[in-house]
Amino acid sequence: MRPTLRNDLAASEPYGAPIAAVPAKLNVNENPYPPSPEIVSAMAQAMADVLLGANRYPDREAWQLRSALALYAGGVARARVQPDQVWAANGSNEVMQQLFAAYGGPGRSALSFAPSYSMYPEYARESFTSYTTVPRRPDFTLDLPAALETIAQEKPSIVLIASPNNPTGNAATAPELRSLASAAAEIGSLLIVDEAYGEFLGQETGSAISLVNTSPNVAVTRTLSKAFGLAGLRLGYCVTSAEIVAGLRIVRLPYHLSAVTQAAATVAVESAAALLAPVATLRQQRGVLQQWARANGLQHSDSEANFVYLGRFADSGDIWQQCLDAGVLVRQSGPDGWLRVSVGTHAENEQFMTVMSQIMARQNVLTDPRDSPS
Ligand code: PMP
Repeated sequence: MRPTLRNDLAASEPYGAPIAAVPAKLNVNENPYPPSPEIVSAMAQAMADVLLGANRYPDREAWQLRSALALYAGGVARARVQPDQVWAANGSNEVMQQLFAAYGGPGRSALSFAPSYSMYPEYARESFTSYTTVPRRPDFTLDLPAALETIAQEKPSIVLIASPNNPTGNAATAPELRSLASAAAEIGSLLIVDEAYGEFLGQETGSAISLVNTSPNVAVTRTLSKAFGLAGLRLGYCVTSAEIVAGLRIVRLPYHLSAVTQAAATVAVESAAALLAPVATLRQQRGVLQQWARANGLQHSDSEANFVYLGRFADSGDIWQQCLDAGVLVRQSGPDGWLRVSVGTHAENEQFMTVMSQIMARQNVLTDPRDSPS
């Protein structure tokens, strides 16, 4: 007899974007610029140093890394962040999975705002938490009155918002986040603000990290995978209250974060200024792509991330395939008619715009503007 998969998993596929070796890979919101050779050699040296002691388990609490992250996060929010307010794991996906394991669970629910990141229902599934969403407005901004009403009615244990949102890029404003935090606090629930793209936020919007000292029920998750350009390293973290971190320590596996990851990530965080240097260029290139979209009759969302969200195509699957055939891999995510395109290098962005212009010159690819939602 063969083992049978859990019934609730039987119809599921593993999560992941289509993979293809193409000249312009603009599908998973990576930073197109790798770390400099100087930073790579500093990370390699730090990894070699800890490997000399690799017969021992790593620091289970990752104190050195969490202290470096606390300093960085404090700088972002212009606030005092202590190392015991920071938690780190293998990507912010793992951090959020741990938050769900500790603060969700059977008989509890999580609420988010659709369309959003497609892993959220999976964190819920893995922790046996039920998952519901409130729709965003037609322009993909948060519908705050609907959000507050649903929080009060459904009393979810977790409220989860991505800001900037994936796949649309819209950021929540500081007053919106404060309202969500107090509505969640009123019913004793956790507000997770997923800032995977936080370094790309406009100055005026600012990070929700500034909320954590006054709102102990807020956890802000961040990552080195996007702006820091270290998706291959697998390091994410959250900034929250020491009580929430105490809950995470209960559900984490012992020694979940390898000594090698801790060492390399500590160097990376201490080199934040150099690693984050391309952010300004990527923001500027985002503007170039959006301006090109407008000039060509496409709509785009108001993205504060390192990607643009373009529509509305009559058949976005067909456009996706035509781009791929021409060597440009983009992403189908969220509602029909829209495509998400990561901001790449100057050359990759040019290639995307050229390919899309050629497709649009060959055929009418857009829906009737009268059908348009925004
Ligand atoms: N949140 C959002 C909104 C994302 O888009 C991603 C990655 N695509 C993540 C979290 C997870 O990133 P990582 O696990 O690499 O930190």
